[in-house]
Amino acid sequence: MPISLSRRSFLASSAGFIALHPFSVQAAAGQVHLRLMETTDLHVHVFPYDYYSDRPVDTVGLARTASLIGDIRAEATNSLLLDNGDFLQGNPMGDYIAYERGMKEGDMHPVITAMNTVGYDASTLGNHEFNYGLSFLMKSLAGAGFPVVCANIAKSTGATPREDETLLPPYVLLDRELTDGAGNRHPIKIGIIGFVPPQVMNWDRKHLEGNVQARDIVEAARAYVPEMKEKGADIIIALSHSGIGAADLTDGMENASVPLAMVEGIDAIMTGHSHLVFPSSTYADFAGVDADKGTIHGTPAVMGGYWGSHMGLIDLMLERDGNGWRVVGHASEARPISKRNEDRSVTALVESSQPVLESVQAEHDATLAYVRRAVGKTDAPLHSYFALVADDPSVQIVSIAQIWYISQMMKGTEYEGLPILSAAAPFKAGGRGGPDYYTDVSVGDVAIKNVADLYLYPNTVRAVKVTGAQVKDWLERSAGIFNQIEPGKADQPLLNPAFPSYNFDVMDGVTYEIDLSQPSKFSTKGELEHPEANRIVNLMFNGAPIDPDQEFIVATNNYRAGGGGDFPGAKGDTVVFEGPDTNRDVIVRYIVDQGTISPKADGNWRFSALPGTSVLFETGPKAAAYADAVPGVSISPAGDGPDGFARFRIEL
Ligand code: MN
Ligand code: MG
Repeated sequence: MPISLSRRSFLASSAGFIALHPFSVQAAAGQVHLRLMETTDLHVHVFPYDYYSDRPVDTVGLARTASLIGDIRAEATNSLLLDNGDFLQGNPMGDYIAYERGMKEGDMHPVITAMNTVGYDASTLGNHEFNYGLSFLMKSLAGAGFPVVCANIAKSTGATPREDETLLPPYVLLDRELTDGAGNRHPIKIGIIGFVPPQVMNWDRKHLEGNVQARDIVEAARAYVPEMKEKGADIIIALSHSGIGAADLTDGMENASVPLAMVEGIDAIMTGHSHLVFPSSTYADFAGVDADKGTIHGTPAVMGGYWGSHMGLIDLMLERDGNGWRVVGHASEARPISKRNEDRSVTALVESSQPVLESVQAEHDATLAYVRRAVGKTDAPLHSYFALVADDPSVQIVSIAQIWYISQMMKGTEYEGLPILSAAAPFKAGGRGGPDYYTDVSVGDVAIKNVADLYLYPNTVRAVKVTGAQVKDWLERSAGIFNQIEPGKADQPLLNPAFPSYNFDVMDGVTYEIDLSQPSKFSTKGELEHPEANRIVNLMFNGAPIDPDQEFIVATNNYRAGGGGDFPGAKGDTVVFEGPDTNRDVIVRYIVDQGTISPKADGNWRFSALPGTSVLFETGPKAAAYADAVPGVSISPAGDGPDGFARFRIEL
């Protein structure tokens, strides 16, 4: 039997085999090989360019992914290209359009222009599509040369999802002609349905409250998939802008792709939102997931990375079945646009598509001008030369922006009203990075480029709920960066070089002193070493000693909140808010919102006085210009340090 033979070889295939032997050649008469391509989480990345560091990169860009797409189209008889959402926000080109150029009626959004150039069959909405408001979104979508669907966002809800007035069509039925293995053409109705995490109602409350409502993803799927079948869908593809997460269905879950795969009638699932790759070993231990075969509960699935890093590919072998079609074989893979070599260098695996680059060259050029131009002003120098020895403006601006953002996010939640503190650490503070490895933004204009300097890592914002006692221990853990200092002795080395600066969290919203005469309560790695030690003294909230039992919200990042650095109160079990936004985006929004920023350090922490005692530390030589102006500490030059560093003395 030719059919069963081809089916067996199809199911036994590996990703590498597909690349060598396109399945079109295996499809028999009455069999159709359909290739479903996915991009996801593009976040406005069209050019292979990092606008923050202002240089080309090989790891991102739809222009590159478009070359992979072109390869598939050249070899496949039947293919569809789908986008899984989060295309409208997430890099300076998106901010340039939203904050500078604007979207008037009839304007084209450059990511839509680029997507039109590539040619999509359908897309769905990601959570970030709502970041600039509904009017901006609808004007952007108006230019799309492809349908955009979303089943679980409604302008008004009825008794059941099918009675909702959805913001966009919940699904689309694409009438296509597919060519089978014998060259015969067959009409087919392909249903495309899309979903977004219902958490958008919280994340973009200011834009969405009172205007739209969100439904649970699986609830919407269970309602609309049967309707699509009733209307003649031969196969149904779910565009799930939702991660591969828990197997158990919980109401309103953010990462619902595993329970979604259980919904009867869905033949393939495009996933995303997590910025990860599927199939991959990342998902080896997930219940219901086969990370080798690329299936979720047996349904083929894919996740194509983020920023155009990969093209997701699901191969379906369809067979005529009475009046309809059924899936008789499938394979999934995620094809990368670049590879990382052992020496951490990156090699591009494809070249850019010139038509895609050309379609948004003007907006790319305008974005370059935008990132290089002032978007705000600072009336204090933003440098990190003294970030490890005194309250510091480069850390202060991060905390100010984090508190501004988390205050908005806590509104309307059960945590509204709890005091909000912020934890932030200096990322660029010399060390192994060398004597020039410091944040240094002068008084005056602040450009978007500078924000990457203020916030080095692409972390996302988190909030944790902790007690006053945990706040103190969090700071004790931070204070482990200092050596124990003997009172009355001169010129002792202050900093423990084994302690990385990114684990020196400064906490804003409280005031405190650090008593260097005490041993560190925690080791460099975070183990409890001296339970009785109290380096953190005079810890005050609202001018009174902190109540160890009082609850606080602490704004921080995903690294710390998830247990990075092993901080008390931040081991993954205290997270109350997982923001969709990067800390860097939050700083950009804050600066744009404020126009002028004055991130003067408020001097909310200092070393306790130890009369007759002095310590030495090294920082960048450019620090000399600022040494007199550091609040709360008396700093004087003490000659040259090793390796180009300058040495300074503090009289405690
Ligand atoms: Mn995303
Ligand atoms: Mg401060």
